[in-house]
Amino acid sequence: LIFLGIETSCDETSASVVKSGKYVLSNIIYSQIEIHKKYGGVVPEIASRHHIETIGEVVTKALDDAECNLDDIDGIAVTYGPGLVGALLVGLSYGKALAYARDLPFVGVNHIEGHISANYIGEGFEPPFICLVASGGHCHLVYVKDYGEYEVLGRTVDDAAGEAFDKVARALGLGYPGGPEIDRLSKEGNPDAYVFPKSFMENGNFDFSFSGIKTAVLNQLNKNRMKGIEINIADFAASFQKNVVEVLTYKLIEAAKVKNINKISIAGGVASNSLLRSMLKEKAEKENILLHYPEAVFCTDNGAMIASAGYFDFMRGKRSDLNLNAVPYLKICEGC
Ligand code: ATP
Ligand code: MG
Ligand code: FE
Repeated sequence: LIFLGIETSCDETSASVVKSGKYVLSNIIYSQIEIHKKYGGVVPEIASRHHIETIGEVVTKALDDAECNLDDIDGIAVTYGPGLVGALLVGLSYGKALAYARDLPFVGVNHIEGHISANYIGEGFEPPFICLVASGGHCHLVYVKDYGEYEVLGRTVDDAAGEAFDKVARALGLGYPGGPEIDRLSKEGNPDAYVFPKSFMENGNFDFSFSGIKTAVLNQLNKNRMKGIEINIADFAASFQKNVVEVLTYKLIEAAKVKNINKISIAGGVASNSLLRSMLKEKAEKENILLHYPEAVFCTDNGAMIASAGYFDFMRGKRSDLNLNAVPYLKICEGC
């Protein structure tokens, strides 16, 4: 079966054609980052307008790239939450209209479950596994029992991991989004230059908190400024990144041990972080745990992960009604 996946929850307009939930025939991503950069973050109203302007072209291009047309499509999968309501509505309305016009099965997809499903793209990775979802708006540790069956083991009580990267990057005078900038700059810095605090490190606690480290970085920056100590932003970036990545790695491995599951994966924009990938690889090997991560392009927002999630939801019998509305604060597994 071939699914068309549509994603417009934030600032990427994306459409993708995916076969059997695994084989990506096309993946078109139109990123609005350049537009939002000058505001230092995503401006919701501007995002919605750009989605409206580009969605038609993006879907057409996805079909063209896959060398198919709507006759070849067996189902439409669209993100309906969580995300910015005005942005979500664009993709959702477009997908519903397509499904209605062509009388195709329609599946509303949870964006976070989409991020997790990016792990199904390609060959070989199947549930059960423990997944760390770390993105711009979310940080969850999830036990994926089966396709579409989730148990949330922990979540952030304040900032998301990506949000922490973005905020610290901003304080360091780096561009938006901050994650890739910090990742790049850290390679030139000393990760042991500063020791920042870690939260919730006690046994069996799978929640996260990143506001403490963010404040600690800001305080250290101010202290240096007041004392006239030169600020090496690469050292700050590297020390911050090491701290966050150590927390993420520790908790993911701990969760696998506690749940006695020997497979782990990562998802969401932060999953493309190079230190996270290398540190996890090393720790997982040591613990005899199988680590899987999606290709970087499937970590940040994309239509392919939505098509994949929609396909597996569909195979489990899920069909969404054409009166499905956008749900900005949709929780993981809420609609399954
Ligand atoms: P959500 O999925 O929670 O609704 P989102 O869709 O905005 O939020 P994603 O597109 O999944 O989030 O990821 C974007 C986030 O990932 C940003 O916060 C960005 O800074 C972060 N990010 C991207 N690349 C990296 C990297 N190499 N290292 C660390 N963080 C990164
Ligand atoms: Mg984005
Ligand atoms: Fe996302």
